[in-house]
Amino acid sequence: MEYRRLGRTERHVSLLGVGGGYVMLRDIEQGTQVYQRACELGINYFDGRYGYTSAMQRPVIRQDRAHFVVTTKTVNSTREGVLRRIGEDLGELDTDYLDIFYLRAYNREMVDAHFAPGGSIDGLLEARKLGKVRALGLAGHSDLSALAAGVETGLVDVVEFPLNVVRRDAFDALIPACQRQDVGMVIMKPLNAGLAPAEVCLPWLANQPIHVMAPGVSTIEQLEADVAALDRSPMALSASEQAEVERWRQNMDSETCRICDRVCQAICEQGLSIDWILYHNVFHNEFRRLGIQGFLEHPFAPWVKGHAESTFRATVADLEACTHCGKCEQVCPHHLPVMDMLEQIKEDQIALLQALAQTDWTAQYRDVDSPITAQTLAAWGRSSKVRRQ
Ligand code: SF4
Ligand code: SF4
Repeated sequence: MEYRRLGRTERHVSLLGVGGGYVMLRDIEQGTQVYQRACELGINYFDGRYGYTSAMQRPVIRQDRAHFVVTTKTVNSTREGVLRRIGEDLGELDTDYLDIFYLRAYNREMVDAHFAPGGSIDGLLEARKLGKVRALGLAGHSDLSALAAGVETGLVDVVEFPLNVVRRDAFDALIPACQRQDVGMVIMKPLNAGLAPAEVCLPWLANQPIHVMAPGVSTIEQLEADVAALDRSPMALSASEQAEVERWRQNMDSETCRICDRVCQAICEQGLSIDWILYHNVFHNEFRRLGIQGFLEHPFAPWVKGHAESTFRATVADLEACTHCGKCEQVCPHHLPVMDMLEQIKEDQIALLQALAQTDWTAQYRDVDSPITAQTLAAWGRSSKVRRQ
């Protein structure tokens, strides 16, 4: 495993990290096995706290706490909120310090709120003085120029953002700002939410001036495949691999939502969280990756099985409310065929629902305690009203 210096944090991180967005769909014991395998493969960067991933990481990081770069996140923009959250995270991870604490900042207003007097940066600086946090991070996936502005304050040590063969807007302002400030660069969505193949797309990313990439994985097999993709010498792509990357870029260009902040959603007359449906919904992304049969055979945690049907049913209900007014397509800066994409998702999910109805998942697992709050579960299913509260 290659290690890189994570900017001015002076930590050395494995080029591959573990993203937490999908492993959280496993039960704690199985998730812990994924993190343990990551450790054995030389991975020392664990991204964020998703659902109950802290409980999965806890037994692994305690084996050699100093070796791991453990990170958590919040969207809270107040000093008090950040300090409270750091205290909770330290307790859940059973550790004395966090290596990086990220402030999620999707747009300029959120960045401004974090940096305002009495804002979350004040809380983070305080936590760092007390030794509870080692490095200050910003994370976001929408307006990367806003992240660049945050980096240029000089207060940020690490920034986490999306970069992959199709989404390259980080090269405009953010990566140059990080290089000027010697800020660590952590990549989310390196495989474009599972749409791109690891074999060439991870090596492509490894050739960019970044420090660690953290694809979401839910199984040991996926993790090992990602490690294998980066286990090569030279890392530079051959001409035929470059051509393959370019083919993938072109294929995905017209079907990749760039998670704009409040562009199409702001004008959707049904209030649909379009980027959520197209890109963020982890239930749907796993289904898209696995297909119907693969989804039914996947070792999801019992609570995921118990909620799968209601979650997909809620999304389909939202999609059925779409009036096909076309406004989302008119404003989409990437000219995506949004209505066709939503229609396809609806049809696919209806087919999955028919298959789920043949299982006993709902009856068998419905009452299994979920470590995810009822509000979050509802938000995963319903794209509109709940998410907008
Ligand atoms: S076409 Fe559907 S998703 Fe798009 S803006 Fe209209 S109602 Fe919303
Ligand atoms: S559908 Fe288009 S406008 Fe809407 S979030 Fe995605 S890329 Fe942006």
